[in-house]
Amino acid sequence: MPSLLAVAIDAPLRRLFDYRPPAGSPADTLEPGVRLWVPFGRRRAMGVLVERRAQSEIPAARLRSAIATIGAEPVFDRPLLELLVWAADYYRHPIGEVIAAALPGPLRTGADADATTLRWALSVAARTGGLPPLNPRAHRLREMVSALESRRDAGEAELAALSPRWRDHLRELERRGWVTELRLELPKSPATTYPVARGPELNAPQQAAVAAIGEASDRFQQFLLHGVTGSGKTEVYLRAIERIVEQGRQALVLVPEIALTPQLVARFAERFRVPLAVLHSSRTDLERLDAWRAARSGEAPVVIGTRSAVFAPLARPGLIVVDEEHDSSYKQQEGFRYSARDLALVRAQRLSIPAVLGSATPSLESLERVREGRASLLTLPERAAGARPPTVSLVDLRRHAATQGMATPSVLAVQRHLDAGGQVLLYLNRRGYAPTLFCPACGWVAPCPRCDARLTVHQRDRLLRCHHCGKEQAIPETCQQCGQPAKPVGQGTERIEETLAQLFPGVPLARIDRDAVRRRGALEETLERIRSGEVRLLVGTQMLAKGHHFPGVTLVVVLNADQGLFGIDFRASERLAQTIVQVAGRAGRAERPGEVLIQTEYPAHPLLTRLATSGYDDFAAAALEERRTAGWPPFTRIAVLRAEAARREPAHAFLERARAVVQEISAAGVEVLGPAAAPMERRGGHYRAQLLARAASHGPLQRMLADWLPSIEVLPEARRVRWSIDVDPAELF
Ligand SMILES: [Zn+2]
Ligand SMILES: [Zn+2]
Repeated sequence: MPSLLAVAIDAPLRRLFDYRPPAGSPADTLEPGVRLWVPFGRRRAMGVLVERRAQSEIPAARLRSAIATIGAEPVFDRPLLELLVWAADYYRHPIGEVIAAALPGPLRTGADADATTLRWALSVAARTGGLPPLNPRAHRLREMVSALESRRDAGEAELAALSPRWRDHLRELERRGWVTELRLELPKSPATTYPVARGPELNAPQQAAVAAIGEASDRFQQFLLHGVTGSGKTEVYLRAIERIVEQGRQALVLVPEIALTPQLVARFAERFRVPLAVLHSSRTDLERLDAWRAARSGEAPVVIGTRSAVFAPLARPGLIVVDEEHDSSYKQQEGFRYSARDLALVRAQRLSIPAVLGSATPSLESLERVREGRASLLTLPERAAGARPPTVSLVDLRRHAATQGMATPSVLAVQRHLDAGGQVLLYLNRRGYAPTLFCPACGWVAPCPRCDARLTVHQRDRLLRCHHCGKEQAIPETCQQCGQPAKPVGQGTERIEETLAQLFPGVPLARIDRDAVRRRGALEETLERIRSGEVRLLVGTQMLAKGHHFPGVTLVVVLNADQGLFGIDFRASERLAQTIVQVAGRAGRAERPGEVLIQTEYPAHPLLTRLATSGYDDFAAAALEERRTAGWPPFTRIAVLRAEAARREPAHAFLERARAVVQEISAAGVEVLGPAAAPMERRGGHYRAQLLARAASHGPLQRMLADWLPSIEVLPEARRVRWSIDVDPAELF
């Protein structure tokens, strides 16, 4: 009879912790997935019960008892808890941190998981004058009291408006007996069928796609929905989801970070008059908690969110959709390094429901799964509403010198499209004014003191900024080496904006990059000015390439395709091709035909010629052959052990030791390469290096990692570095 509890605790340790059950709650009354307060070292920690055990390796005398359960109901149902355990194991990440990543913030600190909402009100004592008066100088506290006096109760939104430190003030008032917490039951909407607004007529390929997804409704099947930009993928998702909603089940929709705009949510809300649960990192803790609860109770038939929404609880799961499945934001790059796209497939398989991955530029992994017969391909070859695909041509920068980043044929094309009433989009994947501050007299370039990198000139902010570590300094007037005047060299989006204003005076212009849209709501405002047709010229980084619809754009100019042509990462060419095709896809989406110009110094490069003449599929087929020959994923499986330290030596010493350990464990079928320094070895003051483990399939790699990590963790050298393991890395360094 299992009488002990194995508990996951949010700590960087790859193990569970054993406890006796809390007093009055025998182990067999506790469901896995339930939260517990447990003693942990000298503090109290929140843990999640993962399994019950009959015995422990810890001697009985040293076993401690859990303090209490938090809520009677598990926060994860069995399938979701099992998925989290699987993910911790697969990505070799501490289970407690994996589980914490799947919980909204308030639930990690003991908030109620049930559908209640937190409000606060003045206590009876405060209302009846039974408390000593507050200090007249405690302005913030008095302000909060008078805000509460004027209403029955207040929630997070109202109180947060008073002061950024409202939680501190509230806690202080609670301590003094002025305020009490209320938990209000949220009204539960009855689980009924909802009206669905009628969508447009589907074309034949769309109909076929919807039918195929519908036929798979009660079993796992993975679909790759491959459609060029503007071919109506979203409409296929909406129809497939419609069926699920009509059956009273739930659809989980994952979208890339930047694509989750109010427009997208509005599009879903217009079609489905149902509660939508929206999970997104920029929402407040309580908003996310509400969405999480609505997903868990089944009250929200459609759950839509970014990466971590793959862990959203679902009462009646029916379908998982991953939009823009090639997007790199699905891979978490720090801490728990999981791929939401890959986990969506694992989750759908475990739930026996279909999964639809959609893209105009599918990842090579997904295309290979289709070729192997593991995924079904659904193709949308046509652009919806008869729009024609854009023509693509290369502008040879060796023949046409560029002035301030623009070659003459590009300038003429921009003028032609503006004259014809079109909008023009110019893409450059480099924000700031210029990538370098350079001294023509001695050749000095302004370096980042903390990285092996140059500082970028940000003219508007009058700063040099490092795009790798964030270091900022004032722009020096003169060269720091010889004292001659230094000048910005090369092009960034800020400088292109300036050039365009000179070349096309009076034409309304907008810029979209991380600097330009830093202010909350700025991106939305700019997008609206583009949609309304007010903006005619638009310059930006790859933020432009992600999911925004610009029906008035007739010309797209890729200002520099060459960064990435010779990247050392095995995914560099795939990423470049996806970006170019995605940016190009913004052109000519309505009835007007589009034109795409790609400026390059390498017009004969096979990647560019293939993209320009025969398109993404042809590129992808060739790129997959290269991967097969070179032994890279998806034809192999890899994991990367990274280390960094303030000096070079400890990072390499650790990796050398980790490599030596491989001889002592069972590592059959796994090849270990390195240690190798990162191409940009020093970043943010840290030296970085890595080992790469590679195997033909994931079985041998997983078996090796299972043996390897416990041996690495206890190495004395491990204490002198920051290290991490990345299974299926998106980037090599
Ligand atoms: Zn100089
Ligand atoms: Zn730096």
